[in-house]
Amino acid sequence: MRVVLLGPPGAGKGTQAERIKDKFRLTRIATGDLLRETVRRGTSLGRQAQDFMLRGRLVPDRVILALMRDKIREGVSGFILDGFPRSITQAEKLDKLLEAENKKLDLVINLEVNHNEMISRLKGRVICPECGRTYNKDEFVDQPLICKDCGTHLSQRSDDNPDAIEERLKVYLRHTLPLVDYYKGKGILRSISGKGSPQGVFQRIVDLLYSPGSIGI
Ligand code: ADP
Ligand code: ZN
Repeated sequence: MRVVLLGPPGAGKGTQAERIKDKFRLTRIATGDLLRETVRRGTSLGRQAQDFMLRGRLVPDRVILALMRDKIREGVSGFILDGFPRSITQAEKLDKLLEAENKKLDLVINLEVNHNEMISRLKGRVICPECGRTYNKDEFVDQPLICKDCGTHLSQRSDDNPDAIEERLKVYLRHTLPLVDYYKGKGILRSISGKGSPQGVFQRIVDLLYSPGSIGI
């Protein structure tokens, strides 16, 4: 099964992709995580990406593709993509990469959340720099901001500041949202409400994948 998870920043793609990966034994390929790791390592690709990320812009395609090409080939028997593709150009590149392996996408899950929910999730988001788990500050009233899995101090992502959030939303509307129609046209898009608890959203995704006529399983 080859799945793409689509949705605006703050929709909960990371959380859901992690669960889908575990339940259906897929390789999770998350561009945002790969990029942050590349930035941390300070490689030339990382230096090229950093500035774009801090401002909430899309990292240039040649950087993304250099990072993704091998990952997609390696995971081609079953993957969930989180954060890629983010534009029509990237979607066409992905189609070509898969075609070269005689494969195609099975399903695109579109996570829908409204504007206000998105903003409040992004503003309240804290992450564990050690293990990558994400939380919302609301979960820690009167408690220290410490990861429940590994005890590390949580911090805010450097692009979760008001300016970068606004820019990421603009970029989403302009470049990523057109993918909804792109994949509708291919007949593989399914939309799911991203509202409510992570467990509730996950259940809707599982129901979708098991529903009769689903292209999932
Ligand atoms: P979010 O979905 O919350 O905005 P991500 O962790 O997926 O966060 O991405 C963080 C940043 O990494 C993006 O704002 C962008 O700068 C960069 N990025 C991630 N995926 C891509 C991509 N496919 N193409 C270009 N840039 C990307
Ligand atoms: Zn942790």
